[in-house]
Amino acid sequence: MKQTPRSGASARPARPKKSNGQWKIDGQEPLNKNEVDKAEDNGLNVRTRIEEVYSKDGFASIDPDDLHGRFRWWGLYTQRKPGIDGGRTAKLEPHELEDEYFMLRVRIDGGKLTTEQLRTIAGISNDFGRGSADLTDRQNIQLHWIEIENVPEIWHRLEAVGLQTTEACGDVPRVILGSPVAGIAADELIDPTPAIEEISRRYIGDPSLSNLPRKYKTAITGHPSQDVVHEINDCSFVAVEHPEKGIGYDLWVGGALSTVPRFAERLGTWVAPGQVVETWLGVTEIFRDYGYRRLRNKARMKFLLADWGPEKFRDILETEYLGYKLADGPAPEKPMTAGDHVGVHKQADGKYYIGVTLIAGRASGTLLTQIADLAEKFGSTRLRTTPHQKVLLLDIDEADIDEVVAGLDALGLSSRKDLFRRSTMACTGIEYCKLAIVETKQTAADAVAKLEERLAGIDLPHPISLHLNGCPNSCARIQTADIGLKGQLVTSEDGVQSPGFQVHVGGGLASKDRDEAGLGRTVRGLKVTVDNLSDYVEKLVRRFLAGRDDNETFSH
Ligand code: SF4
Repeated sequence: MKQTPRSGASARPARPKKSNGQWKIDGQEPLNKNEVDKAEDNGLNVRTRIEEVYSKDGFASIDPDDLHGRFRWWGLYTQRKPGIDGGRTAKLEPHELEDEYFMLRVRIDGGKLTTEQLRTIAGISNDFGRGSADLTDRQNIQLHWIEIENVPEIWHRLEAVGLQTTEACGDVPRVILGSPVAGIAADELIDPTPAIEEISRRYIGDPSLSNLPRKYKTAITGHPSQDVVHEINDCSFVAVEHPEKGIGYDLWVGGALSTVPRFAERLGTWVAPGQVVETWLGVTEIFRDYGYRRLRNKARMKFLLADWGPEKFRDILETEYLGYKLADGPAPEKPMTAGDHVGVHKQADGKYYIGVTLIAGRASGTLLTQIADLAEKFGSTRLRTTPHQKVLLLDIDEADIDEVVAGLDALGLSSRKDLFRRSTMACTGIEYCKLAIVETKQTAADAVAKLEERLAGIDLPHPISLHLNGCPNSCARIQTADIGLKGQLVTSEDGVQSPGFQVHVGGGLASKDRDEAGLGRTVRGLKVTVDNLSDYVEKLVRRFLAGRDDNETFSH
């Protein structure tokens, strides 16, 4: 006879709730290999071993846990072996894809550079990196072909001019995106430089923040163009004017793209300029203490925010971390100028800054030296990198503008509002990245050249952004482009596989051309091979122009 449980007793003991690995709730027992490695030895500690052992004894001496984990804390990743096609990426073990050379990311908080610093990076590129150098879409400069033997000398040269690779990668606070025109622009609301510099000085390399659940991205801007892609960072501050309190910052939390994109949400607070650093620290500590650490693919801040919601997040921030209430505040207004800063613009001090485009961020040691030469020839020693893979030359006298623009042109750097070049971005791709399936940088350059030739003279309502990724990750922010291209193999009707892309259309961040951020849509079956990319984009653009109503943009 079937037994019914006695009143008040359950048939089975309740299963204990599975730990999410949240330190403050579940304790600090590591729940996966990454967490074990981080708990056993902080990533920052690997520097001593690089200096004292690995750089002397060579690549073969490197402990695999350091090589594939802790090296990132110092901006080092192994690069892909040349000659392995994208079809084999998923079939080979990571070590089979790996070369004995490294990519090295130089972090440039706020994108602030001097010509001396740029020359130093260029010298390292030429001496140790086969002349390679790429501007990333997070204001960093990435070098390639680095050998472990040369890393201490590279650090020595970088640190002598105030640069670092500390926490350029890894589960740490990555480079702080800052408005490239901070402290410069005539139309700036507030200069965020003091906050960026204080966070960098006090907390980058701080062991108490160097074991976060995963990477942690920050963005701060005081410019009305909202030029730091704040919607897709873990913690962002965007300048806003409070009707009574004046200029401060609107706080956004929990944005990130990757394969599960999610936009950051406003907490509804007004953060006074003097509160930015402690508020950033509170948000970062929440991530450290409450972030999910059981599954790596659930460990970004966005998953915590999705579960908590902005109200709970704000309450925990105020009660457990700040110890005071933040003021309520308004949302920033829609930007009315472009945030890539391409072109010639007046500074607050009467001089000018000139923003130029390198195609998809591709530079070289030689080009970086030439840029420094040109700037210095006209009395400038200050530059900025941008989150759009661009470079800004600052402090140009009005009388010199034409000559500087011509000099930049001669270097292949455009300050014009080109149809495609300006808004094309590409990730590292198969040339160096072990996860890549598709080549991206040259593919982007070829597409830009063909499209600008074929569509010369057409009148676009706004530059159409073309972002290329070499794999399903989103290092080039494909979901936020008019046309986003996700690298994959494309199979033809007769079963032949070629490198290509799945197409996302209609994405974008808040800008003068769209009211708010929106993710690009993937349409089933919308795929294109690398070889057919230019034809495809040309057709798409012509179709859009032919069917366009007045004021219609690519995404609406
Ligand atoms: Fe590598 Fe993929 Fe990122 Fe491109 S999107 S850099 S291929 S991980």
